[in-house]
Amino acid sequence: MSEFTDEMYAGSQKRNFMGHPVGLSVLFLTEMWERFSYYGMRTILILYLTKYHLFGVEKASMIYGAYAGLVYMMPIIGGYMADRYLGSRKAVTYGAILLVLGHGLMAFHGPAAYMSGDIVVRDEFYINIFFLALALIIGGVGFLKANISSVVGALYGPNDPRRDGGFSIFYMGINLGSFVSMLLVGYVGEVHGWNYGFSIAGIGMLFGLLIFLWGQRFLGGRAEPPAPEVLKEKSPIGLNKENTIYLFGLGLVGVNWIMMQYDQMVIQLVGVSGILMIGLVLFYAFTKCEKVDRDRLFVALFLIAVQSVFWALFEQQAASLTLLADQQFDLSFFGIGILASQVQMMNALFIIVFAPVMAWLWVALARRKWEPSTPAKFGYSLLLIGAGYIVFAWGMGLDDSTSKSFMWLVFIYFMLTLAELFLSPVGLSMVTKLSVPKIVGMMMGTWFLFTALGNNVAGWISSLMGSNEEGVASGTLDMAATMDLYTLIGLGSAGVGIFILILTPLLKKGMHGVH
Ligand code: GLN
Repeated sequence: MSEFTDEMYAGSQKRNFMGHPVGLSVLFLTEMWERFSYYGMRTILILYLTKYHLFGVEKASMIYGAYAGLVYMMPIIGGYMADRYLGSRKAVTYGAILLVLGHGLMAFHGPAAYMSGDIVVRDEFYINIFFLALALIIGGVGFLKANISSVVGALYGPNDPRRDGGFSIFYMGINLGSFVSMLLVGYVGEVHGWNYGFSIAGIGMLFGLLIFLWGQRFLGGRAEPPAPEVLKEKSPIGLNKENTIYLFGLGLVGVNWIMMQYDQMVIQLVGVSGILMIGLVLFYAFTKCEKVDRDRLFVALFLIAVQSVFWALFEQQAASLTLLADQQFDLSFFGIGILASQVQMMNALFIIVFAPVMAWLWVALARRKWEPSTPAKFGYSLLLIGAGYIVFAWGMGLDDSTSKSFMWLVFIYFMLTLAELFLSPVGLSMVTKLSVPKIVGMMMGTWFLFTALGNNVAGWISSLMGSNEEGVASGTLDMAATMDLYTLIGLGSAGVGIFILILTPLLKKGMHGVH
């Protein structure tokens, strides 16, 4: 890895990218390719599990939920390792290497499962390779995802007004990567073969790694280890500390490999960790904080916990919503044929179109003092997504054919995205604003833990929409159960949304002037 010189530092400060530090272009492209691989692979995952490996809806959804839950749990560990020892640059590089290995391994999928009488015959060796590939991706995201965002923040001084703009550009990179990959990997995977789709995701990640290796010199030394000499010290196992952490990362991959095989236990792991983190923060709040800081931490914890409801509904996208698109809808849009796996691209597309509109709207409303407070935005988000599912379930009930109108899918994706814009970017900034600076990393970790819980529950909810019967039609959703569950989660989410809106005056008071 290259060492930084004063000359590089000066160079990195002089050049710029759309008026921003040039390092932003490197982070933009790296994260664009990382999300390309992540969402590309994910977009075909549930179809691959049900159609190639002939898992039933129940098992396929649980595998997806375990994977998505662990993916969002690991950034706490990767973030800690970067803050304490590695620095973000090394952590991102290591994460990217694990990701290339994981996505690369996905390309080796062995023979398809087949029926022998009533029994499904699968090649267990390749199923284990598949779980190992997922575990490598989980570890890779853990080391990369949160840390690359920290580097974006580190490019700007504390009062640099370009910071928010920088994050918006970065978020565009995320969605550009996911949009293109869902189109491309979806097409290649479904039409030409799942392994070719996975390979394209892997090649995308390889581009990401190469770009980062080449471009890290432009980060101007802002993502270096906090104490480089400590990394060279010997650890108890005889290696230096840096290599010991890399070895620990491989150990983590091993643990995730095992967890993937006990998918029903992930909820306990994530749930218990979430409760522990809440306990830790409460302990800190009661022992180390004055009233104002303590109240703010309470509000933050409450909002962190309720966001899991949002993700449980939102992340139906790569699970039940994709199966539904495949089985129940006429997938032509003004004469253009779309594949079930490509339907998810609407979320990225809507974000690209509407994120700037929403950003403008908040500013315009703020000028008139009409901007809703953060808790109110959370309440509206849960109401919107809940209402979306209730109306969507009702709409599906109007037509019992298997070529329902594509417009319903456009509708639910629009509602999901609108709700996302009310909660996801708002939530991240809420965490940084409401927590005491000393524990902001821990609070961010807790945010991701509850995102993880929501993702995991999303898989579990989807698992209730079909049977565990395995076979050629194993991915078939039970429509009565699906519509009932959509209505139920819609009502649940809307109910929580209303509850938050009722509590909003109290929550605002607890924020003590922070908006
Ligand atoms: N779509 C965004 C991303 O992939 C946000 C995902 C999340 O926070 N769960 O970065």
